[in-house]
Amino acid sequence: MEQSKQRAEIPDSSVLTTGAGIPIGDKLNVLTAGPRGPLLVQDTVFIDEMAHFDRERIPERVVHAKGAGAFGYFEVTHDITQYTKAKVFEGIGKKTNIAVRFSTVAGELGSADTVRDPRGFAVKFYTDEGIWDLVGNNTPIFFIRDAILFPSFIHSQKRNPQTNLKDPDMVWDFWSLRPESLHQVTFLFSDRGIPDGYRYMNGYGSHTFRLVNAQGEAVYCKFHYKSNQGIRNLSVKEAEKLVVKDPDYATRDLFQAIAKKDFPSWTMYIQVMTFKQAETCSFNPFDLTKVWPHNEYPLIPVGKLLLNRNPQNYFAEVEQIAFDPSNMPPGIEASPDKMLQGRLFSYPDTHRHRLGANYLHLPVNCPRGSAHVSNYQQGGPMCIFSAPCNVPNYYPNSFTSPRDDRKCNEQAFRTAGDVERHDSSTEDNVSQVRVFYNETLSEAERQRVCENIALHLKDAQIFIQKRAVKNFQAVDPDYGARIQALLEKHNKAGGKKEPLHSYTPCLH
Ligand code: NDP
Repeated sequence: MEQSKQRAEIPDSSVLTTGAGIPIGDKLNVLTAGPRGPLLVQDTVFIDEMAHFDRERIPERVVHAKGAGAFGYFEVTHDITQYTKAKVFEGIGKKTNIAVRFSTVAGELGSADTVRDPRGFAVKFYTDEGIWDLVGNNTPIFFIRDAILFPSFIHSQKRNPQTNLKDPDMVWDFWSLRPESLHQVTFLFSDRGIPDGYRYMNGYGSHTFRLVNAQGEAVYCKFHYKSNQGIRNLSVKEAEKLVVKDPDYATRDLFQAIAKKDFPSWTMYIQVMTFKQAETCSFNPFDLTKVWPHNEYPLIPVGKLLLNRNPQNYFAEVEQIAFDPSNMPPGIEASPDKMLQGRLFSYPDTHRHRLGANYLHLPVNCPRGSAHVSNYQQGGPMCIFSAPCNVPNYYPNSFTSPRDDRKCNEQAFRTAGDVERHDSSTEDNVSQVRVFYNETLSEAERQRVCENIALHLKDAQIFIQKRAVKNFQAVDPDYGARIQALLEKHNKAGGKKEPLHSYTPCLH
């Protein structure tokens, strides 16, 4: 990092300066008229210090606010050039620098690490063809399949706008009205809902992407990265204890492991689906609430992600890191996944708001290695790089490069269908959840999922509880019945929290 280099190069004997590099004579006493007198506006040392301090915070991320980051590399271990021409995969043994940010989703910057929440697992690859951001989670699926629901979904998980408290009515009202959330809700309340730090969980690109090879042939693809440390989760009790004892548990665990050179790593796999398979697939392969079953679409090994460097400056390298799913080098493209399409817009839009139009100029975000930025953009707040001024700043022009190169075009594809707001709510919301509940989870895990759900759902109003149970029943009568029985116990025992808001239910 340029900034940390500058700091590291400061000799021990150097004189303290203002932000403008002007040496400071006294940084312990303000300039006043007399020992008890008022401050002077001409105390530029004080003003420089205080004005910068007043601006130390940037807006926290609306989602994924609390996180930890680290750096390392991705190494190709298996050849997948038959599927993609992306240079990051171009030869066995090839290494590419990466940055990874792990996070919780719904909590604020200071919230505890050990809450039940999906975990963000975002990987930035500094490839030879620019940045590739694979902005995933520790689950292969998500709560919704249509991006238009995202703001409302997040509102329901965050604080009530009146009470400023988390509100189980809001959480379960939304989930129970949108049964496509059942798969992810079941994951969330399973043991994997509270991972034991960030090292012991898998990551998933989650969305469906398209890979294009050097011959212009394309397939659909999903990315998985499986923890080489194994999967470890915290029990509800352990997690609750840690919320009080060590709210930064996961952040500390990651930092300490890397500091001790116990470098965490993950094995990357892809799943591949041909266009023909996609046409006849029994489920919508672009639906983010679905997985691609392993037996039909086996995991293909690709490489290794390893983290071996902690940030030197958390703010510069982690708080300001900006991941954007629309950063895809040639050979990796978007699929019609509606959630991915929505994120292609919303992530860079967020960064322009949060960090400014030139967020890609920040050292942690800009391409490096043999990749470089070559365009005709100019100006904007905090502009660090721009095209040289002694050449045209428009394109096309008769004088200079850079020029576009048709070789780098996206693969052409055909699309059809009526333009309308297609209602996806009635698609199959339960089959994969049924498999997960009955076949993937053990009996003890099934019971814990039900207990964890009932413990949370008990604080929602009865009419919401009933609607939620009906949805679980549609997955499997046993699932609904167990939760209902546990809710009855809780409801009888009393102690249910009063509704936190004054909304009047309007039942359709
Ligand atoms: P498989 O039996 O081949 O896959 C089951 C997968 O479930 C495992 O490979 C593992 O994924 C994951 N898993 C295992 N135990 C748990 C757990 N306690 N909590 C959460 N996930 C767990 O069958 P399918 O591929 O047909 O999947 C069956 C069901 O398993 C799916 O409907 C889905 O709910 C779930 N699942 C599937 C994944 C996939 O990518 N196919 C991934 C995760 C879950 P992993 O190896 O990635 O850890």
